[in-house]
Amino acid sequence: MTQQTTTWQNWGRNVSAEPTRILQPNSTQEIADLLSDPGIRHVKAVGSGHSFTPIAVTDGVLLDLHRMSGIISADPDTGVVQAFAGTRLRELNQALWAFGLAMPNLGDIDQQTIAGAIATGTHGTGARFQGLASAIVGLRIVLADGSVVDCDADHDPDLFAAARVSLGALGIITEVTLQCVPAFRLQAREEPGRLADILADIDARFDSVDHFEFYWFPNTDRVLTKSNDRVPLDGPGTPLPSWRAWLDDEFLSNQVFGALNALASRAPGVVPTLNAISSRALSARTFTAPSYEVFASSRTVRFREMEIAIPREHLAHVLGELVGFLSSSDLRIPFPVEVRCAAPDDVWLSTAYDRPSAYIAIHQYYRMPCEAYFDAFEAIASEAGGRPHWGKLHTLDYPRLRQRVPRLDDFIAVRERVDPAHRFGNAYLDRVLGSA
Ligand SMILES: Cc1cc2nc3c(=O)[nH]c(=O)nc-3n(C[C@H](O)[C@H](O)[C@H](O)COP(=O)(O)OP(=O)(O)OC[C@H]3O[C@@H](n4cnc5c(N)ncnc54)[C@H](O)[C@@H]3O)c2cc1C
Repeated sequence: MTQQTTTWQNWGRNVSAEPTRILQPNSTQEIADLLSDPGIRHVKAVGSGHSFTPIAVTDGVLLDLHRMSGIISADPDTGVVQAFAGTRLRELNQALWAFGLAMPNLGDIDQQTIAGAIATGTHGTGARFQGLASAIVGLRIVLADGSVVDCDADHDPDLFAAARVSLGALGIITEVTLQCVPAFRLQAREEPGRLADILADIDARFDSVDHFEFYWFPNTDRVLTKSNDRVPLDGPGTPLPSWRAWLDDEFLSNQVFGALNALASRAPGVVPTLNAISSRALSARTFTAPSYEVFASSRTVRFREMEIAIPREHLAHVLGELVGFLSSSDLRIPFPVEVRCAAPDDVWLSTAYDRPSAYIAIHQYYRMPCEAYFDAFEAIASEAGGRPHWGKLHTLDYPRLRQRVPRLDDFIAVRERVDPAHRFGNAYLDRVLGSA
């Protein structure tokens, strides 16, 4: 196990940690040996640090699993794939493609590790599709006492139900088993539109497209919609020419957008004008490409984010409240609001547990204040029974969460069984799970 001694920082640059050691294990056994040492009080795994909450922070030993990466086995006939927990989604997706397989659904970047992504309930969009953790059919976990456990729907089903979205609170996951689907392409249609038109028709939009989402630009009535439909590998349709992909996805969406945000942080008064420019910068386009290439975008402009899942039927109302709040406030927000949806699932701490869900994600440039904006939105979404994304900023604590996260106490009971001394605990987990 190689040791590093550096301060750890997350992608959003709002969380840092001073672990006593950062270790890079090579095997499950090395992690089991480490946990067998009762002298080590706190241990946490970290993925690629893409959570905005301090969920991965520890004052003890931080485990960076990037050496435990790659596919262990894949069966192209059944779609069942075993992978090491530290595999980044980008590498996982490319490796799956070589086997003629794909993840059923993905979020909008591919930099996370598979273990980190499922730990916080990472999701994409699609009325008939669930979050990433729903694709997990088995897990290998090193528990607090150093024992190595394989769990699935038949072997310790409660641990399995809890550990698919584990918040990193139950143990160190070293291997995941995924139920993948045959490789598919996505036909992407991206176009500008008006917020009122989208909201008037929102259920039909979500239900008629496999993966629909839209971005609303504050201080404007304009949106950018993304409609991605699943198509076979051998049908018509071509990827974007490389010059257009670079122009839209690198130059306009990252370089120009980054410069506009830097300007906004120095002169917030220009934000409404900048939002009007941003909302018109990207013109309509249609293309077809491998699913994982269409799902994932490159994001180089750093930001802070809050995302809350609400019952789908409340979307138009909650978004209307947010629009009303922003138009009557003098807050300046140069980042669009992202709106997605997901099918219900049975993963205990999934934000879509047992209900069709809409997701509203709000962002702020990392050099501009976000507290007043985020607090106001959290209050609005809370009225609709909003459940926070575990990896994105929120202020909710255990007493408030247990009213809206139905299986929270079941999760805590599993945690008390497998980690009674809270060796995988930290201040964030004390807040959301209680410290008793
Ligand atoms: C630019 C950007 C875009 C994003 N887009 C989306 C999106 O489209 N959809 C969405 O839902 N979210 C999105 N997120 C949030 C992101 O997917 C989650 O925060 C995710 O958890 C990050 O994965 P990670 O590998 O960086 O994990 P980290 O943030 O490093 O860790 C997250 C948690 O996982 C735990 N963990 C990591 N590895 C292990 C392990 N081996 N065993 C046990 N626990 C472990 C950590 O201890 C921690 O508790 C985005 C974030 C950013 C910064």
